Amino acid sequence: MTSSEQSALVVGGGVIGLASAFRLARAHFAVTLFDPTPGMGATHAAAGMVAASAEITPGEEANFRLQSGALGAWRALAEELGEVTGKELTLREVGTLLVGWDRSDRRLVDQYVDVANEFGVQPQRVRRDDAPALFEGVTGRISEGLLIAGDAWVNPDQVVELLSEANQILGVEVVNETVTSVSSAGNRAHANTITASFDRPLGLIATGVGALPAGVVSPHRNRIRPIHGITVRVCGLDRSDQPMIRSYVRGRTVYMVSRPGGYNVLGATSEERSESTVQVGELERLLRDALEIVPDLDSAAVVETRSGLRPASDDLRPFFEVLEGGRWAWSSGHFRHGVTLAPLAAREALRFAEGVE
Ligand SMILES: Cc1cc2nc3c(=O)[nH]c(=O)nc-3n(C[C@H](O)[C@H](O)[C@H](O)COP(=O)(O)OP(=O)(O)OC[C@H]3O[C@@H](n4cnc5c(N)ncnc54)[C@H](O)[C@@H]3O)c2cc1C
Repeated sequence: MTSSEQSALVVGGGVIGLASAFRLARAHFAVTLFDPTPGMGATHAAAGMVAASAEITPGEEANFRLQSGALGAWRALAEELGEVTGKELTLREVGTLLVGWDRSDRRLVDQYVDVANEFGVQPQRVRRDDAPALFEGVTGRISEGLLIAGDAWVNPDQVVELLSEANQILGVEVVNETVTSVSSAGNRAHANTITASFDRPLGLIATGVGALPAGVVSPHRNRIRPIHGITVRVCGLDRSDQPMIRSYVRGRTVYMVSRPGGYNVLGATSEERSESTVQVGELERLLRDALEIVPDLDSAAVVETRSGLRPASDDLRPFFEVLEGGRWAWSSGHFRHGVTLAPLAAREALRFAEGVE
């Protein structure tokens, strides 16, 4: 669509909806974005890792390939946000240190190497004696690990803040209401809230695990299920100049993303359930695993615990689906990589918008 009537509806203001609204607004679309509580869905709980390599998982090569392009897209987005807001988005390309807690966890590290090599990634073996700074804060019983280059982090709170600010500067209208139903008729995309109706030439649905507005029917039978997870934020050890830590502990994964000032995000649990409540057991397991790996956290101050629901599709892959009538598209299924993939999902939203007649 390139006529003078370039305008779009975006339903959902998580990282996917906000980034898509930004991309559309930068391309001179007049955007109206709906969300009762922007930025407070899964995005609020995310650690902000952009860590395609550390997240390598057997059977998920397609996801890895997709995520591999994400860091470059984040660099470009950070630059554009700087141009619009005059503020710098923190994007730290620190890499990941992967370690194993006991002998069977170290076997998992070896298995990781096998899969990483198959995917063309060559992590570097590192020993504490040769590179003590990398192991700062890590328990003395771990003497070696893998250094995975190319992984980075952003702070999702800052991402939401800067995208919201940039969108405001670019004239994006924000309606703090839930969209209850959508439809396509007369070459328009229609959306209804309980107080008003809107129509534009096209619309995007980016509602994460939220109940879909009535009228959304997926011809490809895509559906979303919630995968609950928590992150715990603690203040203490400052490892922000060092790689993120990721470890297997008794077969589970725990990670620590360290930001300047000693603010650390510990994560994450992963359970197939739709409640956002934080269970005592999951909190205890996450903190116990983190303390096994970084004992100095014992005296760190707990700042807060956040929980969120990751939007997972049946095949664990993200999708961008043009819905019946061609006026609406649905961008979802970003599962545990939505922050990573947001700039790429936003590009897809623009491709769709530009293709609508
Ligand atoms: C514990 C945890 C840790 C994570 N860590 C990382 C990480 O380190 N790196 C990474 O890449 N990803 C991570 N993720 C995954 C990432 O958070 C998600 O993939 C991503 O936030 C999904 O973004 P979204 O915009 O689709 O959904 P959300 O952030 O959930 O946003 C959806 C928005 O839509 C709104 N909404 C819903 N229905 C409606 C409606 N009908 N009308 C209007 N608005 C509506 C909601 O209010 C919400 O704000 C993590 C997730 C969790 C839970």
